[in-house]
Amino acid sequence: MKKILFSLVTISVMWSCSSSKSLSTAESSIAENSKISAVLWQQTSAEYDALCYQAFNVATHRLNSGDMGNMDVNSKKLAIIMDLDETVLNNSPFNGWLIHNNKTYSPANWMEWSSLAKAEFVPGAIEFMQIAMNQGFKIFFISNRTVQELDFTIANLEKAGIIVNPPDVMLKTNSSSKAERRENVLSNYRVYMLIGDNLADFHNIFENDLSISERKNNALKFRNKFGSKFIVLPNTMYGGWEKALKNSNSDYIQNSNSNGLKKYIKGF
Ligand SMILES: [Mg+2]
Repeated sequence: MKKILFSLVTISVMWSCSSSKSLSTAESSIAENSKISAVLWQQTSAEYDALCYQAFNVATHRLNSGDMGNMDVNSKKLAIIMDLDETVLNNSPFNGWLIHNNKTYSPANWMEWSSLAKAEFVPGAIEFMQIAMNQGFKIFFISNRTVQELDFTIANLEKAGIIVNPPDVMLKTNSSSKAERRENVLSNYRVYMLIGDNLADFHNIFENDLSISERKNNALKFRNKFGSKFIVLPNTMYGGWEKALKNSNSDYIQNSNSNGLKKYIKGF
């Protein structure tokens, strides 16, 4: 039952973010109902909060452990790379607004929300950033918010007392790929940890057009990094996995008797 519920929740993102794929009426209906579940869980479950606390507790523990691995701490300064949306900033009110107003995501309505600079913070994020900064770690924010959102984004962070230099907030210019921005950080810093809600926040391989199975195989490949160098936050509302549904015509059919998105859902 849990798996089915989770699958329904995850399907919701198809509805909100996949403008390139037109859904049938039946699929839209499923997706719309599931979108509500996704936002409801993110906003109301204490389990969501607990998972976020858990992620930042693990990250903090690693900072305090002094375990620098095989990093040559003398050669370069240490940095932490953090994503912003659903890693530091909680945008579930935007997704809730879409539901209440029967709208789908667009760059314009997103900008309307982000320009308010009033996103609250993911549980545990503020304390983690304060500890890391106090310990001398440099934090770079690599986000696919657009460069037009820089001022709002900095203003939003400042509301929690997180003061950043504009160049440390690396937003999207031409490409959604975070690879080049990560490389820029790596040219001057040792990256001690990466924190995000999307696997593309951690490694370039997840930026490719992968199927569900390929993404899962890559997660398996990096399994030892999760909870050490890679710290993952939960996000049921949207993410890179949506694209994988579109890339998975035959490799992940769980129920060949079903149509549309339901075919990816395993029953018993
Ligand atoms: Mg994110």
